[in-house]
Amino acid sequence: MSDVLFQNAKITKPQDNQPEQIKRIFPQISPVKDGDIVAVKIHPGELGNTTHLRPVIARTVVDLVIKAGGIPFVTDTTTLYKGMKLNAADLINGAAMNGFTHASMNAPFIVADGLRGGEARKIEINGEALDSITVASAIAEADSMIVISHAKGHPASGFGGALKHLGMGCLDRAGKIKVHEVGRPSIDPEKCVLCGDCVEICPWGAITPPDIDQSKCCGELSCADACPEEAIVPPQGATDRMQKRLGEAALGPIKALEGKIGYINWVYDLTPGCDCFSFSGERFVEDIGILASCDPVALDAATIDKIDEQMKLKGSSVFNVWGVDPWVHIEAAEKAGCGRREYKMKDLALYASKH
Ligand code: SF4
Ligand code: SF4
Repeated sequence: MSDVLFQNAKITKPQDNQPEQIKRIFPQISPVKDGDIVAVKIHPGELGNTTHLRPVIARTVVDLVIKAGGIPFVTDTTTLYKGMKLNAADLINGAAMNGFTHASMNAPFIVADGLRGGEARKIEINGEALDSITVASAIAEADSMIVISHAKGHPASGFGGALKHLGMGCLDRAGKIKVHEVGRPSIDPEKCVLCGDCVEICPWGAITPPDIDQSKCCGELSCADACPEEAIVPPQGATDRMQKRLGEAALGPIKALEGKIGYINWVYDLTPGCDCFSFSGERFVEDIGILASCDPVALDAATIDKIDEQMKLKGSSVFNVWGVDPWVHIEAAEKAGCGRREYKMKDLALYASKH
């Protein structure tokens, strides 16, 4: 059973603000040793998204890493979909536009998988779905890492937290394709009206309606979201298969860093969509607070349970946000050896209530 630390969002004193909460939590989850080069993994948010992690949270962690004797860099990887993260130049510019700069964070922002997402280390997984996975090189070569995740819903995995960050956000392009490829869709010619919207959004030139060239498609499904006729559909069972790969892939960075990783889930601004969306949807529950652990499986399990405490009051659950069961990838990660789902929640007293 792993410990999960919890700091409540319901604060009334400056001594309990989020940076102060992180300062209290950090020593209990930090793997940082003197002289370590430390990756601080974040998602800076797509342009147009306004509910992503705030730079001040990354800054707080960076300063704590420096205080512990580490050499921090803040990092993220390129994506498969069209947007501000398709290559390193766009990602650095986009991150700066969302406030993540050296001036705001006190550390450089480095794209971990290189200019076009091709720099990685192969890590053996020996799982049921994946034999190996490729981890972005700057992450694989770091001495230790702090993963800061904005908890939110996700259309492909039901929930996005620490494991989504590991099993997708820490991979290079080839690794992401390996997780996504089970979702390669096809077009229903009966529904397709040849509008061309999908052609426009596909970054890989895979679509000539009503055909999709499966050898070019990576299965990231932005075309399915874009199609006004709902004519583009992934194969049946693709979501579960993708989640199982995601859970197993999370083992890649854990093995690469020999487990020297601390995890913080920032459970504020809980939107249905992930921070890759270029907009922020309406929050589906109230702010919860900050959870942290050395075990990403326990941490995500505890975070979902906290969210579901609120959802149950409305007769609902995280499952209902997208009709996708997030426990599929959490159980796959547990089975792969990423951690344990059972946890003990340590509710850290707020400063104000102790003094
Ligand atoms: S977006 Fe949909 S309707 Fe339009 S061309 Fe593509 S598949 Fe056909
Ligand atoms: S065809 Fe669709 S799923 Fe495949 S790469 Fe293009 S946008 Fe992504």
